[in-house]
Amino acid sequence: MKVERTERICPICGKLYTGIPATSRIDNFTLICPDCGTRQALETLGISQEEQEKILSIMHSHQPK
Ligand SMILES: [Zn+2]
Repeated sequence: MKVERTERICPICGKLYTGIPATSRIDNFTLICPDCGTRQALETLGISQEEQEKILSIMHSHQPK
């Protein structure tokens, strides 16, 4: 299976990202980066911004670079 590696700019954080985009929960249409997708998902769970960043940094530290 071929994985597409399209580069996109996230409209929320302005970061260039590759990989599978997430759909914004705000309008269910805008494509956002996986990080912002995670942030929005955590926000729906009532997780504070500070906690969101902590969770993201943990996730990033487990990603092979
Ligand atoms: Zn983003």
